[in-house]
Order: sequence, then structure tokens, then C-alpha cells
Amino acid sequence: MTPFTYSVAASEHEAIVQAGAGAARFLGGGTNLVDLLRQHVEQADRLIDVSRLPGSIEETPTGGLLIGASVRNAVLAADPRVRTRYPLLSRALLAGASAQIRNMATVGGNILQRTRCAYFYDVPGARCNKRDPGAGCDAIGGFTRYHAILGASQSCAATHPSDMCVALVALDATVHLESKAGKRSLPLADLHRLPGDTPHVETGLQPGELITAIEIPPCPAGANSGYRKVRDRASYAFALISVAAVLRIDGGAIADIRLALGGVAAKPWRATRAEAVLRGRPAGRASFLEAADAELADAAPLQGNAFKIPLVRNTIASLLGELGGVAA
Ligand code: SF4
Repeated sequence: MTPFTYSVAASEHEAIVQAGAGAARFLGGGTNLVDLLRQHVEQADRLIDVSRLPGSIEETPTGGLLIGASVRNAVLAADPRVRTRYPLLSRALLAGASAQIRNMATVGGNILQRTRCAYFYDVPGARCNKRDPGAGCDAIGGFTRYHAILGASQSCAATHPSDMCVALVALDATVHLESKAGKRSLPLADLHRLPGDTPHVETGLQPGELITAIEIPPCPAGANSGYRKVRDRASYAFALISVAAVLRIDGGAIADIRLALGGVAAKPWRATRAEAVLRGRPAGRASFLEAADAELADAAPLQGNAFKIPLVRNTIASLLGELGGVAA
């Protein structure tokens, strides 16, 4: 591991000042970043510990929740307001990692965790454009069971590994940021980037910019929500694919739908095409499958992950059928 200095920030402002210039990194629970440093995937000359900043979960004036970036994943999953008002978020969190990791991992760190593409971690054995821009990609033509089917490029087909982010994107979450330049907010759905020719640029964060909080608006009255994760073993496994949905049915028709997919792209994937198909349609398997097909029309699987297309299709139909109380 490359030597680095370590400091603890007492406030968000102090963390931002400490970040300054150079290869400083904010450290949350360390459940991904420490591995990346140990394996020489990343380097940092300074680590600024933001995991001890006061983190709370507060009601917003509009009836939503404001969640501090240092809130631990386990605390968020267990919060009674999250469990009752946003059950898909609690389920997504509990579907991630292990109890020990959820006790350590923070909300901010979860958002910024990096892909689990095995080639990305294989230093110095594998070529990886994300780790070493311009080097090539050994996943293309290699083992791609966990790789993307949507929004990938010839440069990179890695997936974003978070479960929590898929639920948050379905909930229309906003991410709050702060840097020396001031504060700003943007939809979480717009934070992560698709790889294009620059897979090493994964988010729209500016240098030294800190995630301070996530805000989620209230769920539509009368909506049901859920998160379905499909994986190779029952626990401590990343998603092959996942589906998060918020669904409200009125008089047998779909009145409100928010749908997001995990394990299919370099970012939590908001399924806007599927949503457009579903709005106003009768709630039933035919509508659900038609919507899934619309979303997957541009899917481009690699040699090892074509199974994801029917898996996404059937999981969307199954979850929406369950939430809507209709046969699917
Ligand atoms: Fe690297 Fe992306 Fe290729 Fe994986 S898929 S080896 S992360 S460039």
C-alpha cells in the first residue's frame, strides 16, 4: 500500500478544507476504499475520515427524509420511518453485503463504491481502462457474467454494484454536495456516468466535492414499493440484476410508476422507457412485459451475460405483479 496521511474531520467544512489539492480521498466506512488501496487499484496521499461526522435522518418540510452521508447502512435500513414509508430502500440495504459490512458502510460511501469487475481488481494481471485509461479491457472476451447489458461501451462494460442506489433512484432521490465552491444538489440518477470513452470518470463530482446528504421525497399516497435482487447465492453476493419499483394502481390502471434496475449498467438505471409504456395502462403481465421489452430494446449483452435480458424481463413482471396484486 502506498503511504498516506490520515486525519479525522470534525465537520463537513473542515473535511472540505483538508481535502485541498492533491490526491486526497474522503474515507467513509472504508469497506471498499481500503480494499482498493491495499490492492493498488487506487492511490491516495491523504485520507480524510468523514465517517465520524454527525449523521442523522431528519424529516423534511415536504414529508420526505434527509439522510446524512455518514449514516451507516444498517442504521438506515432499521430506521422505522424507512421501514414503513420506504420499504424498498430498507430491503435494498439489507440485500447488500453482510451484517458486518452494513454496520460499517456509510450512505456516502455506498454511493461512491466502485465496480466489482474482477479485472479491475487484478493488478497487475489484467488490462483495465477504468484503472489505467487507454490500457484496454480484458473483460471484453473474458468472464462477463456480472457485466453490463445497457449503456456499455467498447471501453468498459462494468456495472455499478450498489443495491441502495437502485432503490434511491426509483425514489427520485436528490444528492446534496458541498465543496469550496459552495453547495449544490442534483438528482442521484444524474450523478453516475456511463463509460463512453472515459470509464475512469464515474461521476459528475468535482475534485474535493463531498456528498453531505441524500434527500428522498415522500412516496405517492397509496403506492406499494419493493426491491427484488437476483444473485448467485442467498447472501453476501452482488446482484446479477435487481429491480426497484414504486407502483400505484387506480381502478385497475397504472396511475404512478417508478422503476429502476441494478446490475445492468455502470449506473443505477432508471427505466424511463418502461415507465412511459406503463403509465395509464391496465395493470397486468402483458403491460409489464411490454414495458420491460421497451426498456431492453437497446440491450447489448456480451458473450457471458445474455441471460440477463430474460432475467430482467421476468423479474420486472414478477415484482410489479406482486406490488400490484395482479397475476404476473
Ligand atoms: Fe476495467 Fe471496465 Fe473492462 Fe472491467 S469492464 S476490465 S472495469 S474497463
